[in-house]
Amino acid sequence: MEAEAIAELIARRQPCVVLTGAGVSTESGIPDFRSPTGLWAQFDPLEYGSLEAFRRDPLKVWSFYKPRVAMLTEAEPNPAHLALAELERLGFVEAVVTQNIDLLHERAGSREVVEVHGSIRTATCPGCGARYELERVLELLAEADAPACPACGALLKPDVVFFGELLPAGSIERAVELARRARLLLVVGSALEVHPVAGLPQETLGAGGDLAIVNRGPTPYDARASVRVEGSAGEVLPAVVEALRCEQPQQAQDAR
Ligand SMILES: [Zn+2]
Repeated sequence: MEAEAIAELIARRQPCVVLTGAGVSTESGIPDFRSPTGLWAQFDPLEYGSLEAFRRDPLKVWSFYKPRVAMLTEAEPNPAHLALAELERLGFVEAVVTQNIDLLHERAGSREVVEVHGSIRTATCPGCGARYELERVLELLAEADAPACPACGALLKPDVVFFGELLPAGSIERAVELARRARLLLVVGSALEVHPVAGLPQETLGAGGDLAIVNRGPTPYDARASVRVEGSAGEVLPAVVEALRCEQPQQAQDAR
């Protein structure tokens, strides 16, 4: 029933933009940050996830990131990622804005992905500015505890957004633009606690759009959502795809 309610909203309210957080990847075996069993319960973010910590002791930060990068590259997209890619392919989803750095949306087949917290796709040398692809970083990590820049020797910084760091140029602007244009913002697996992403639902609502939320646990926007589903993204989203398979996206069709 809940999946059908979301499917109906998606069919009626185009364009639909999706906003995903850590909850969409937990079913791929990737721990989230803020839950009691999350990463920040084990690792102090100020010691392992901040720009200041990286500048002070990059080797220590890499003691956290090296196993994390290994885990992220070994993880596979789950049914939630695959369902979102299918919704885009069917014309029901314009873009996915994600807080996740794990590349799983892209690997599942999503094409329009806005990574507002960066990703592990590349790492940049703070010394000389050279940028390296993940594959090269993994090669360097195979031989050392932290990847040193082959050009200058400085330890590379993953191109993920650390605490105390600005969001990647252009990405949050693009996310805000998408949220304003969306007649439906579908939030999946985010508690909407981390700014500025937490402000995106307000952009959609303020422009007259609707909000739907699939999340385990409450969010500050629950009362303003047209549909609110307490549940697993990996179960709900495939059911949404099934419900939409016979439908045509209304607005998108009209616009063509
Ligand atoms: Zn360098």
